[in-house]
Amino acid sequence: MRKEERYKGVLDWFQANVPVAETELHYANPYQLLIAVILSAQCTDKRVNQITPALFEAFPTPEVLAASTPEVVYEYIRSVSYPNNKAKHLVGMAKVLMEQFQGVVPSDVDELQKLPGVGRKTANVIASVVFDKPAMAVDTHVFRVSNRIGLTLNSKTPLETEKELVRHIPERLIPIAHHWLILHGRYVCLARKPKCESCGLKPWCKYFQTHPL
Ligand code: SF4
Repeated sequence: MRKEERYKGVLDWFQANVPVAETELHYANPYQLLIAVILSAQCTDKRVNQITPALFEAFPTPEVLAASTPEVVYEYIRSVSYPNNKAKHLVGMAKVLMEQFQGVVPSDVDELQKLPGVGRKTANVIASVVFDKPAMAVDTHVFRVSNRIGLTLNSKTPLETEKELVRHIPERLIPIAHHWLILHGRYVCLARKPKCESCGLKPWCKYFQTHPL
């Protein structure tokens, strides 16, 4: 199957069957999403959603967070993975946000990466979810699912996957395609044992062609 056919089949299927796909993190504004995405690294969205209500209440603005300390923030986030580092990142992020961006979350991927705790993946999530930009964030699910289906071939790094996906997916679909692939990886195309029997992508999936039921 030609790559174009594979992309078309997969994207058409998602559009028909998953018309709504959004982040599972809870947030009310760009600042809160930025915090939630930083906390979600190597951690489940469910766990992050459990602790963010109290965190957002205690630190309602970047100004308040910037005036705090990692030790204080740690007490609110101790149940997520790597709480020490993340507490430092959150306070550092708020400080840079205040000093360089007047407390406003930037929309540019390069500027976002100037914030402590914000790598390329996080920057792409913010750019796409908040600002609807055609930025493709590649996490472990997107990386795995894209390789399995055959949307990427022999991709070795998240950056290679990002470039390949962005080259083939129409711009207007990139923000939602990110969520399609994440949710598919989270609930259907599982890392250890993909649920191929109940997956609608079988006709276009390269992995399924070589691992039939
Ligand atoms: S057919 Fe199987 S391997 Fe392919 S996308 Fe679906 S669950 Fe994943």
